[in-house]
Amino acid sequence: MNEPAQLVDQAQQYYAYSHLLRRNFHRHPELGYKEIRTAKIVARELSQLGIQAKSGLAETGIVGLLEGKQPGRVVMLRFDMDALPILEETQTDYASEIPGVMHACGHDGHMAIGLTVARILEARKNTLTGTFKFVFQPAEEGLGGAERMIFVFSHHHPKFDFDETVLPIAAAVMAATAIRLTEE
Ligand SMILES: [Zn+2]
Repeated sequence: MNEPAQLVDQAQQYYAYSHLLRRNFHRHPELGYKEIRTAKIVARELSQLGIQAKSGLAETGIVGLLEGKQPGRVVMLRFDMDALPILEETQTDYASEIPGVMHACGHDGHMAIGLTVARILEARKNTLTGTFKFVFQPAEEGLGGAERMIFVFSHHHPKFDFDETVLPIAAAVMAATAIRLTEE
């Protein structure tokens, strides 16, 4: 099996994990800088993977660091955490339980994908080169969370280099999700 196929395969194995997490986040949406429960789950999942994580950055942001076996470039992956002030009118069994707040911009999915990518990379740690920095940014919806996280980064080491090599992994998680949704 070539590498992209292996990644899709591995992402498929973690589908149930992604699915559960996304629905969990979806049920309990939180507005910008109030992502308290959300941040607890992200931090718990990262620490269960053995990824050292710093919480409380720019209020509720989190950065996890995964070191590969060989030193190399620092790759940043960024995911957003907040929901929108919108009343959910769907009848799904995982609809928002918070009146007037909804994950209507997909950040629930972004975080589920991010944590699944972390799981995939952690499982491949022994063959990884470089460091992976998982950035969970609060308050993306016009509240300036990105700017505040960038400020945090100017004081946070190691500095990251942008890289596209990790994109196939996020793409694999999304492909696996799409395959499962088509099958269902
Ligand atoms: Zn958004």
